[in-house]
Amino acid sequence: MAKKIQILGAGLSGMIAGIDLAKRDYEVTILDGAPGIGGLGNFHPSTHATAIDGPAAWRYIGMDLSQNFRPSKSFRVYFGENGYELDSSDLVAVERGARESSFDTYLYKEAQKLGIKFEFSQQIKKHQDLPPGSIIASGLFPEMFHSLGIPALKCYGWATRMPMEREPEVVVYFDSYVGDYYYSTVTNGIFFSMFFQRSDIPRANADRCREFLKRHENLETPDWFHCTNYVPMGSARSPRLFAADKILAGTLAGMMDPIFLFGINGAVLSGRIAARAVYEPEQARNDFKFYSRNFAMNYRARKIMELIPPRLRVRGGKRFLSLPESIRGKMMRGDKVGIPGVGSFNLYKVLRTL
Ligand SMILES: Cc1cc2nc3c(=O)[nH]c(=O)nc-3n(C[C@H](O)[C@H](O)[C@H](O)COP(=O)(O)OP(=O)(O)OC[C@H]3O[C@@H](n4cnc5c(N)ncnc54)[C@H](O)[C@@H]3O)c2cc1C
Repeated sequence: MAKKIQILGAGLSGMIAGIDLAKRDYEVTILDGAPGIGGLGNFHPSTHATAIDGPAAWRYIGMDLSQNFRPSKSFRVYFGENGYELDSSDLVAVERGARESSFDTYLYKEAQKLGIKFEFSQQIKKHQDLPPGSIIASGLFPEMFHSLGIPALKCYGWATRMPMEREPEVVVYFDSYVGDYYYSTVTNGIFFSMFFQRSDIPRANADRCREFLKRHENLETPDWFHCTNYVPMGSARSPRLFAADKILAGTLAGMMDPIFLFGINGAVLSGRIAARAVYEPEQARNDFKFYSRNFAMNYRARKIMELIPPRLRVRGGKRFLSLPESIRGKMMRGDKVGIPGVGSFNLYKVLRTL
């Protein structure tokens, strides 16, 4: 008789874990609080950007997902009023949400082919409501961080989206009036942007960012909406594969970059790690340790960055880009970055100033 397993979260890591287990003849049920694929809240449809070592990730998870990650054709970074076009060869764009062209829909269809059952509109309040041994992959939502006692931080942002027919591109903007940053990504006919930090942002600052976009990117963005989410940045020891009698996956497991909060790559890899924890727990423990090895170092680096006023950080960013490329390369070594599984990171190469 097939062994049964429940997974909470029909997002990236939950579905990747489910697909891996279904291929090994487990009977998988995935629960989600949303009424259908695409997740809770007003986040999606959205477009995300990430660095990813695709071939290594596909080998590890046993599935080629390359069609969901489109190479970015342009990467523009602004430090205050100074703009730079950087090398985008290590950046990809991915669509999230319920549209036919999204990564979520792709995984959903793969999961359905394998007979995985989905139960939507199942909002789970506590981890105890799931059977022991279940996988929890609840992403950036608060309930499971609280229920499992995982140190988390609340993030605040303003976001917007609109149709846009352009080749995939990414824009990032740092300024003195925000603790984290603004980013936008275009892919599959959608523009999505978010301006966020680890404490609340007054609307006036979002309006200022909007003005910046008009000035530098010639963009009129529709009304921005306020949003919040939770990230596993409450402690250098947040990452964990097991908690109580459950297995964790994705952002909840701490598979996220502590500095810039890239979470896609970690979610993809940790889906497979969580599945492996079901049938090969010791190997899964080793894999988890390997992929999260840079978290604590990057978490501490981020804490040091936070001691520097944003105004000086912006100045530091410009200064960094004026250093010789070989020095920048040494400072941003791919094997030290906090994005799990990323080995190459060319995001420091300046092609031209804007
Ligand atoms: C708007 C936005 C933009 C982002 N941009 C980027 C980016 O550009 N680059 C990048 O690398 N990362 C980005 N991230 C982060 C990245 O998307 C996440 O880290 C990643 O999706 C997490 O994957 P996951 O598998 O952990 O969870 P998700 O894919 O988020 O899935 C979690 C699922 O769990 C369900 N769920 C949660 N709690 C409950 C509950 N209590 N009961 C029932 N169901 C529940 C949700 O409905 C959801 O479907 C962004 C996140 C957001 C929200």
